[in-house]
Amino acid sequence: MENITKIVQLGICTGCGACFGCKHIRPERNSLGFDSPVVDDGCEHCGKCLANCCFDPEAGDD
Ligand code: SF4
Ligand code: SF4
Repeated sequence: MENITKIVQLGICTGCGACFGCKHIRPERNSLGFDSPVVDDGCEHCGKCLANCCFDPEAGDD
């Protein structure tokens, strides 16, 4: 399963912080001046970060 790296790579992450709860995600200041999530190699691909991200283009609207 993917993680929120996908959202960052698509350029649609706003740095809202909703996914920062995972121990494998750390905020890192990007070139635009806001904190963007960076996922470490320990990611277990559980999908919870994507479930918390309202910008996942593959998520349902319900
Ligand atoms: S462990 Fe789960 S919540 Fe954490 S970065 Fe990986 S997919 Fe996202
Ligand atoms: S929840 Fe989505 S928009 Fe918010 S910081 Fe995480 S990846 Fe970015």
